[in-house]
Amino acid sequence: MEEPQIPAKEETRAKLSIWCARHCCFCGRACTTNMEIHHIDGNHSNDAEDNLIPVCFDCHGELGHYNANHPKGYKYREREIKSRREQVYELHTHKYLRPVDIIISNWMHHVRDEKGKLKKREWGDFSCTVRTLSLDIPVKLHLCIKPYQDKAPLETTLGDLYSGVALWNLNPSQTVFGHFELPIKKGQEPFLVRVEIFWSIIDVLDRTHEMLPFSYVWDDPEPEGDWWYDPRVIYPQP
Ligand SMILES: [Zn+2]
Repeated sequence: MEEPQIPAKEETRAKLSIWCARHCCFCGRACTTNMEIHHIDGNHSNDAEDNLIPVCFDCHGELGHYNANHPKGYKYREREIKSRREQVYELHTHKYLRPVDIIISNWMHHVRDEKGKLKKREWGDFSCTVRTLSLDIPVKLHLCIKPYQDKAPLETTLGDLYSGVALWNLNPSQTVFGHFELPIKKGQEPFLVRVEIFWSIIDVLDRTHEMLPFSYVWDDPEPEGDWWYDPRVIYPQP
């Protein structure tokens, strides 16, 4: 017999209830079944995850109470409501977050030559070593790399795992020795290649934890030159 299909709307509601562990995402109180899903923009057909907030009956009344035609007090803004919701989700899901380390390099960190020296990749091919520091639960990584040479975006199509199309499944203690290619020009003076890294970690409850972006820079084309970590991004997001 076929399993009855669970409507997408119910799936979303179940997920949000799990993320907040049935606590009101506005006042933070534990709710059990005394909980409703409020549509932040007031449009009841907009069931996008970002437009929904699980709240207790009291807060639901409060959120729907403000009348723009007879303004009294200071209205709850969308940004404030969403920020409070994220704080409650975070409170109940951060325990499932595990760190991930991302290292860009010209060297293969797992292959050595006959002299025991690390092997270098071919020109234009770069190591991307991804390591989870989790010892217990798996996480997924969403990784999006934006490359530049001499301040101009490098016109290239990176693979699915490096352009944010596919997710990395990372089991506990796992290290992945990945690599990607860039159409880097040789002999440019000054030589400057930068990759900006936008990423997030998705926990076992399917909640996305946005991480701060950072960069790796390669400005030394000499044989021993390697990429260095820059804890910022400098270009605006397209
Ligand atoms: Zn409440």
